[in-house]
Amino acid sequence: MIIDCHGHYTTSPRQHEGWRGEQIEAHKAGKPPPPRPRITDDEIRESIANGQLKVQRERGTDLTIFSPRAAGMGHHLGDPTTSEAWASACNELIHRVCSLFPQNFIGVAMLPQSARVSPKNCIPEIDRCVNEYGFVGVNLNPDPSGGHWQDPPLGDRYWYPVYEKMVEYDIPAMIHVSASCNPTHHTTGAHYLNGDTAGFNQLMTSSVLKDFPGIKFIIPHGGGAVPYHWGRYRGLAQDAKLGLLSELMLKNVFFDTCVYHLPGQELLARVIPVDNILFASEMIGAVRGIDPQTGYHYDDTKRYIDQLPLSAADKAKIFEGNARRVYGRLSATIEKQSAR
Ligand SMILES: [Zn+2]
Repeated sequence: MIIDCHGHYTTSPRQHEGWRGEQIEAHKAGKPPPPRPRITDDEIRESIANGQLKVQRERGTDLTIFSPRAAGMGHHLGDPTTSEAWASACNELIHRVCSLFPQNFIGVAMLPQSARVSPKNCIPEIDRCVNEYGFVGVNLNPDPSGGHWQDPPLGDRYWYPVYEKMVEYDIPAMIHVSASCNPTHHTTGAHYLNGDTAGFNQLMTSSVLKDFPGIKFIIPHGGGAVPYHWGRYRGLAQDAKLGLLSELMLKNVFFDTCVYHLPGQELLARVIPVDNILFASEMIGAVRGIDPQTGYHYDDTKRYIDQLPLSAADKAKIFEGNARRVYGRLSATIEKQSAR
């Protein structure tokens, strides 16, 4: 089985994101939001059959761990009330996709975060998504201000209510920022990779992994700059007397393979132990074109893994085994959904 641990519903029916625009406009005007739009099962089926499912079949992957569009989370927009309503709408839509295509998609929640608002207010949505929807993880935005970094770092106790829930439910968090509203930080070219790198560094210099020994985080987009600069982080940890970086981080922190060329994947697999790498593509996401050097889509990451000089057993860990281990509820959910 090939499990892609990083996919977003980037092809959702138009009225879904349309409503979000109206909701934010209404908020600015001090008016209540309009009623949520009607979205039929057929519209969802069509958006998936011609989108993510089609790509799964073309590329030979089986299951996508699926969450709302990341840049669309927009935690810097509106207020806690608009964030709650939007997260609720987005997660409900993911649940509908997973119900219509139970063999191909398993859900991960976006959280109703807002800049400088305690993440405590995310708890009811986490409860709902795990208990009612059967989701297996969350996307945690380390910068709900959208590029201005106004909240405390991930090591601060500010975030602990979310970590307590993650441990309680055995769900990992992918550290994933949303759109940037800071013009100096392009959303997918700078802000995403900065968020990945900053998130890793914040955890490294904190006591989170000591305070929550069983907690698991996934650093997406190949870990931002981290694998490339592994020597820097080893040295920083050493200078700060934090001990060996691998012992400090690698029981709890994992990296996905959303790296869009073979040399990057080779570096990732050389630097990061195979046990800490999870297959992912973020297909129909940030980079949608075809690489003229290979003739294939940049985000067709399975091709790169196939070419790595690793044993079949190691590749099976990257494609399946590690995801089943990191997402503690995944295997049971696969069984449950495939029985439907
Ligand atoms: Zn993403």
